[in-house]
Amino acid sequence: GADDEVAHVCITLFDVTDTSITQRMLKSALRSLAEASSRDGLTGIHNRRYLEELLNKEFSRAQRYGSMMSLIMLDIDHFKRVNDVHGHLAGDEVLRNTVKRLRECLRDVDTFARYGGEEFAVVLPETPLKGALIVAERLCHAMGSNPITFGNLELPVTISLGVSQWVPGIPCYEELIRRADTALYQSKANGRNRVTLYHEDPA
Ligand code: GH3
Ligand code: MG
Ligand code: MG
Repeated sequence: GADDEVAHVCITLFDVTDTSITQRMLKSALRSLAEASSRDGLTGIHNRRYLEELLNKEFSRAQRYGSMMSLIMLDIDHFKRVNDVHGHLAGDEVLRNTVKRLRECLRDVDTFARYGGEEFAVVLPETPLKGALIVAERLCHAMGSNPITFGNLELPVTISLGVSQWVPGIPCYEELIRRADTALYQSKANGRNRVTLYHEDPA
């Protein structure tokens, strides 16, 4: 009041528990959704969408700072036969097992993604072609050295790989994929179960 006496006190209380819980649930749902939309349903590794976003980012970084970066594209050899002879469930199991085995050969900083059907990609940041070759050879050996078990079956599974490297002058990340793909195609043409490094076409 005018004489500094407190005549009334008004307190308003809001219970925001529900709002807070809802917000937390919403945040967590959005996080799960973002995570799910960047993963492949069958194998659990990253999907093509995620891979392309990452390649784009890494590509810009390499272009700006001249940092090194390599890409491995790999494809399971004669995979259609696995489906045709043993069925799609066996094919799916081979895909999951292949991913599991290859994953164990990679470092945490490498990004492993399913590019399409039975084709995969590995992005190796800060890695020159020589280093990427060592990784690719390791992946190739990891598959070729032991068959994959499916029930009572022992299925020999090999992969073909192609490796490319960022170098100044490459205009976009798609070119990096194209180069690794070209090398992969050469691995197939030369008998499969092998690694090929991309070399410029002689002009
Ligand atoms: P190559 O050695 O030349 O690569 O021969 P390939 O038989 O592996 O190649 P092709 O592209 O002819 O066959 C790929 C097969 O992969 C065909 C397709 O049905 C199968 N495939 C793609 N995605 C999946 C999947 O998620 N599960 C299963 N089981 N099969 C799949
Ligand atoms: Mg194949
Ligand atoms: Mg293929």
